[in-house]
Amino acid sequence: MAAFASSADLTDKEQTLEILGDGVYALTAEGDPNIGAIEGEDFLVCFEAMATPVAARGWLERLRQHTAKPIRYLVLSHYHAVRVLGASAFDADVIIAHDNTRALIAERGQQDWDSEFGRMPRLFREPDSIPGLTWPTLTFSDRLTIQLGGARGELVLAYCGRGHTEGDIVAWLPKQRILFAGDLVEAQAALYTGDAFHRDWASGTLDSVAALGAQALVGGRGAVAHGQDAVDAAIAQTRDFLRTMLAQVGAVHEAGGTLKDAFGATHQALEPRYGRWPIFEHCMPFNVSRLWDELSGVERPVIWTAERDREVWDQLQG
Ligand SMILES: [Zn+2]
Repeated sequence: MAAFASSADLTDKEQTLEILGDGVYALTAEGDPNIGAIEGEDFLVCFEAMATPVAARGWLERLRQHTAKPIRYLVLSHYHAVRVLGASAFDADVIIAHDNTRALIAERGQQDWDSEFGRMPRLFREPDSIPGLTWPTLTFSDRLTIQLGGARGELVLAYCGRGHTEGDIVAWLPKQRILFAGDLVEAQAALYTGDAFHRDWASGTLDSVAALGAQALVGGRGAVAHGQDAVDAAIAQTRDFLRTMLAQVGAVHEAGGTLKDAFGATHQALEPRYGRWPIFEHCMPFNVSRLWDELSGVERPVIWTAERDREVWDQLQG
């Protein structure tokens, strides 16, 4: 049987810091979760917090080679543990997320922590350094704008609809045309859709992301997309992945097949194009299971627990 999720992936990835514009930073890591920062005139906005404070400190040390400004805002794109549990290392004045993200942390934050720790243990560097769940201190429903000061323009935090989760937000720099898309867009990495709303994500939500007209896009995982063509390709890839899933799982569901049949058909359809991309095998059982529920009328994703993770894995990858 294949090793559970990413539990056998124990090799550290190389981290690359890119400066995308004046005071705009992205750290990518060969398919590990991406992270970013944006300078205001006299403060910093950080985007995503990594899985533990110790992991986050490594990023902050690199960022501190470029700027000593204090961190006023920490923006969390969504509730997943590998993106939020390092928050205490930032010592930010304000932690921002979507209203639904705060509700999801209250509802399932602890289960998600346990689940993700089991799935991706390498990302949890020194897990005992996590002081507890991360609680946003400022939330919003539609849009929140931060004035960066000077000639830096503004940073727009926007909700584009349900997608990778029920509460994803993007961080958009309209003047620089740079977008931090969180897990709503993946460039050369597989999608995780275990907590997703596939039909909304593949249609209106991605339409809203595309309508921003970014010239550079930092997705949730994978390389930075530079230029209109690369941005379009990243969004198109994300949509194609979702549409392929919808077509394959939908056909088996409609024909009265089983979840296992749906997994086989979807895996076969996606594997030629996406099979070698980071976390593909890890994600597929959870992805197909959630879409099967969605098509069966289960409105909100069922909470993943460490136990449920293993059951679904054994059923589909076993
Ligand atoms: Zn996520």
